Amino acid sequence: QGQPARLYTEEDPVVILSSDSLKQSVSNSSSAWLLQFYSSWCGHCIQYSPTWKALAGDVKDWSQAIRIGVLDCAHEKNFDICKEFGIHFYPTFRYFKAHDTTNDLGKTYRGADRELQTVRQLMVNFLQNHTRPNWPVGCPPLDPVRSEDILSLMGKKTELYTAVIVEDGDSYIGREVILDLMPYEGIAVKRALSSDRLLMEKLGISSVPSAYLFHPNGTHTVMNVQKRLRFFFSSFLKLLPGVHRMQSTSSLQRPQPGNNGQGTQVEWKEFKKSKVYMADLESGLHYLLRVELATHKTLEGEELKTFKDFITVVAKLFPGRQSVVKLLETLLEWLVSLPLEKIPYDAILDLVNNKMRISGLYLSEQVQWVGCQGSSVALRGYPCSLWTLFHVLSVQAANRPDALANTGFEDDPLAVLQTMRRYIGTFFGCQECGKHFEEMAQESLNQVKSVDEAVLWLWRKHNQVNARLTGSMSEDPMFPKTQWPTPDLCPTCHEEQDGLHVWDEQMVLAFLKQHYGASNISPKYSS
Ligand code: FAD
Repeated sequence: QGQPARLYTEEDPVVILSSDSLKQSVSNSSSAWLLQFYSSWCGHCIQYSPTWKALAGDVKDWSQAIRIGVLDCAHEKNFDICKEFGIHFYPTFRYFKAHDTTNDLGKTYRGADRELQTVRQLMVNFLQNHTRPNWPVGCPPLDPVRSEDILSLMGKKTELYTAVIVEDGDSYIGREVILDLMPYEGIAVKRALSSDRLLMEKLGISSVPSAYLFHPNGTHTVMNVQKRLRFFFSSFLKLLPGVHRMQSTSSLQRPQPGNNGQGTQVEWKEFKKSKVYMADLESGLHYLLRVELATHKTLEGEELKTFKDFITVVAKLFPGRQSVVKLLETLLEWLVSLPLEKIPYDAILDLVNNKMRISGLYLSEQVQWVGCQGSSVALRGYPCSLWTLFHVLSVQAANRPDALANTGFEDDPLAVLQTMRRYIGTFFGCQECGKHFEEMAQESLNQVKSVDEAVLWLWRKHNQVNARLTGSMSEDPMFPKTQWPTPDLCPTCHEEQDGLHVWDEQMVLAFLKQHYGASNISPKYSS
C-alpha cells in the first residue's frame, strides 16, 4: 500500500515538520508557531488543506513572529511523536508560544470556526498574549499607540516612513498591516484607535479605517488608497520608494547614474510602471538571438522545430517597429524555405547581422533595459524581458485572432503558450526555471480552452513564480516580487472575500489586454 499521498509539499508556504524536527523547531523558538497535526487519511484534513495553504500564503510575511506548520500523523515515522503530543483527533491545532520551554506540548485550539479569517485573527490575539520577555524577536508592538507619540512626528525629519493605521478597537487591519510589513525596512507601521478624538481631529480623519503617512522629509498626509482594505494598505506601503524587503545591504543602493556597481557606465532611465517599453522587448530579442542561441552550434530535430515555431509566433504577433518585424519575417521565410534538417547557428547570425542589414532590416545590438533595468547588472534584465515578451504575444494572440492564419497555429488557443513552453525548456539558460515552468504546464495547460484563458493562465503562473521567489536571491530589492498587478496599477482587479484577498479575473483580463496591448508600448529609449 505504501504511504498515503502527501497533502502538503515543499512548494506550499507551510513548514513541514516530522518527528525529527518538531520539538527542535517549536521549543524555545524565536517565533510563535501554529501547527496542524493532521492525518492524510482523514477526509476533513484533505478538505481543509486548501484553506490551510491559503492561510499560510496569506501570512507568509509574518513568519518572524509566527509560523505555520503541519505534521502528518499518518506517516509511520510520526506515530510515536503524535502519541507523545496526545493527538487523538485530526486535525488538531496547537499553538506554541515563542521562547517557551514550559509548555512543550502547546495549547490546543478547540473552536469550531476554522475559517481563514477567524484563524488569522486568532493568530494575532495569540501573538498579543505573549508577555514582554517572551515577545517574538522581530515582531513590532501590536498595541495602539498614544496620540502624543504620533503628533510628535509632525514636521520632524526621520530616516523612516511612519504609517499609522487609525481604526476601531475591534478592527484587525492595523495589526495585520503591521505584521505584513515586518520583513520590510525603511518603514514603521503603528496603529491608533478612532476613540482617540484628539488624534482624529489633528490628523483630519473622519472615517475609519484610514491610514496616515509621515514621510522622512517631515511632510505628512492621509494615505490615498482606492479601497480601504488590508491588501491595499500593505501593498501601498511596500511600494514606497526607499522601502525594501530586508536583504543583504550591498544591493540596496539605487544605482547612481554612471555606475551600476560593476564599473560599467549605465545611466538610470526613468520609466513608468504602467508602461511596457519597446527597448526591453528589442533588447530581449537581441539577447535571445545573439547570445542565448549562440550556445547551440547547430540547430536540428526538435530544437530546430522549436526555434522555427518560436520565430513564426514572434514574426506574426510582435507589435514592433517595421524594421524589426520585417527582419523577423525575413528570418522566418528563410527558415521555412531551407530544405535542411540541420542549420548551423552561424548562418542565422550571419543573416541577422549582415545580410539583412543591407536591406535596412536591423535589430539593435545595444542592450537597453528600461522597465526591466535592475539595481545591479545581475538582476532583472533578460528574464524580465522574456516574461514581458510572452505576455505581449499572448495578448496579441487574443486581440488579433487572424494573425496566425496559414501558419499551422490557426485556431490554436495554446499557440503562444506551447511555443513559450518549448522555447523555455529547450533554450532558456536557466534550467531550473525551465523545469518549474514545465511542471506548471503539465499540471494545468490542458485546461486552457481560449486565447483569453491563455492570457490569464500566463498571468497566474507568473504570479506563482513571483510568490515562490519572494525573498530569494533573484529578487531585486528595488523591485520586490509582488502579486501583480498591484492595486495602484489596477484597483478594480482586487477584491476581498471573507477576509481573503481575491482577484476579479475579468478585470485582470481587461487590464492585461490594455497593459500588454500594442498601444501601451512606449518607444522611449529604443534606439
Ligand atoms: P519578472 O518576474 O521578470 O517580471 C517582469 C515584469 O512583468 C514585472 O516587472 C511586471 O511589470 C510584470 N509582471 C510581474 N508579474 C506579472 C504577472 N503575474 N503577469 C503579468 N505581468 C507580470 N527565476 C528563478 O529564480 N527561479 C525560477 O524558477 C524562475 N522561473 C522562470 C520561468 C520563466 C518562464 C521565466 C521567463 C523566468 C523565470 N525566472 C525564475 C526568472 C524570474 O521569474 C524573473 O524573471 C527574474 O527574477 C527578474 O524579475 P523581475 O523583478 O524583473 O520581474
